[in-house]
Amino acid sequence: MTLEKVSSSSCIFAFKKGLKPAIRVQPGSDLILETRDCFSDQLKSSEDEIADMDWSRINPATGPIYLEGACPGDILKVEIKDIRLKSPAVMIAAPGEGVLGDRIENPVTKILPLSDNRIEFSPDRVYQQKPMVGVMGVAPAGEEEIPTGYPGPHGGNMDCRLLQAGSTLYLPVNTPGALLAAGDMHALMGDGEIVVCAAEAGGELEILLDLVRGSSLPLPLLENTRVISTIASAKTLDEAVNRAVYKMTDLLVDNFNFTLSEAGMLLSLIGQAEICQVVDPLKTARFTLAREEINLKRWQDITRTI
Ligand code: CA
Ligand code: ZN
Repeated sequence: MTLEKVSSSSCIFAFKKGLKPAIRVQPGSDLILETRDCFSDQLKSSEDEIADMDWSRINPATGPIYLEGACPGDILKVEIKDIRLKSPAVMIAAPGEGVLGDRIENPVTKILPLSDNRIEFSPDRVYQQKPMVGVMGVAPAGEEEIPTGYPGPHGGNMDCRLLQAGSTLYLPVNTPGALLAAGDMHALMGDGEIVVCAAEAGGELEILLDLVRGSSLPLPLLENTRVISTIASAKTLDEAVNRAVYKMTDLLVDNFNFTLSEAGMLLSLIGQAEICQVVDPLKTARFTLAREEINLKRWQDITRTI
C-alpha cells in the first residue's frame, strides 16, 4: 500500500480556521508529511548567516490536513509512526535568541551530519539521534490566527521531546476537519531547547490520524507505552507548570473518580513536573505520570477511537 503523502510545499506559517486543506483523509488513515526544517531549509552551510534569512518563512508546518468527520468537541488522535530525517541537521546560536542571547556576541551556524541514527556535533562528540517533532497543532478555538512559532491549547510549537515515534498526541478539534499541520523536526533536543533551536532537520513524518468522540480529556495530552503527560504553555514557566498540573489533576478527577486532594497527593508522590521549552514566545511545561505506577483501568475506554 502506498501512503498518501503531503508535500513540504503545502505548508502554513499560522494555525487558523478556514484555511484551505492540503489533503482530506478519513479517520484511521496513515499518511506521510514531508517537512522542511524550521528555517525552511535556508541554512545549508556554516557560512550561511541568519541575517540573510527570510524570517517570514520560519517554522513551516506541513498541512493543513482535513480529517473527514472531525467536529468541534471531538478529540484528534495523532499517532507518530515514524520520523525519517534528512542529513544534515542545522542549528544556530545568535545574539538575542534563547537563554544565552544576552551573552552570545556573534551569530554562529552549525551543520550536524546525521548517519546511522547518529548525530555528529564534532568528530569526538557523536550522539545517538532522538528524533522528535517540535510543531504539531490544529486550528485554534478563536478566530485569530496563531503563528506556528507559538505553542498553546491548540498544540503548535510545544517542542516536547517526548513527541517521538511511538507517541500519541491528543489535540482539540476546534473547527470541522481539525486542520492539523506539523513540522520543526529535531534529530536531538534536550529539555529547554535553550539556544532557541535544536538539531533542526527536514524529513518525513509518518502519522496515523484518528478521532476520539464523547470523552473529556485535558488537551494537549501525550501518551506512549511508558508515560502519560499533560502539556501546557504560558507566559512564565511557573504558570505553565501550574497549568500542566491542573490538567493532570482534571484527568484524574474527571475520569478516574479521584477527589481533588487525593489526586493532588498522588501527583505529589509519583508525578514529575518537567520542562518542554523555555525559549518560545510562551514557555511549555509537561506533567508526567509513569503508566506502571498508576493503574488507570479506564484509559482504553476514554481514548477509544470511533
Ligand atoms: Ca520549535
Ligand atoms: Zn525546531
